[in-house]
Amino acid sequence: MKKTNSEWAKTLEPEQFLILREEGTEMPGSSDLNDEKRKGSYHCVGCDQKLFSSEMKYDSGSGWPSFFQSFENVFETKTDHLQGYPRTEYHCIKCGGHHGHIFDDGPKPTGKRYCNNGKVLTFKEEK
Ligand SMILES: [Zn+2]
Repeated sequence: MKKTNSEWAKTLEPEQFLILREEGTEMPGSSDLNDEKRKGSYHCVGCDQKLFSSEMKYDSGSGWPSFFQSFENVFETKTDHLQGYPRTEYHCIKCGGHHGHIFDDGPKPTGKRYCNNGKVLTFKEEK
């Protein structure tokens, strides 16, 4: 699942490209998935890998879709300093696409907050 940036640019919307391939961040409150509460799953827009379920989502009030947990072995993490201080960035293990950052202010039981860009997630409703 390795593509060059010009190949990615053909298959992604410009904003999706900016987030997935260049670690960009969408404007808070700009994704329809902030208020998504139906039962279903959230997939990577780059490779369709299943990342989160609706049971893992919660309302953090941050303006970005937030999850206290992901499925196992779907992400890799690294530390970035894009804001001048260390943050834990995570990206899809399958296509390498950047999704967001993990913070330690989430709810129990994990205490984690996966702050995910909504524009790089595809929601699939479970009926
Ligand atoms: Zn992916």
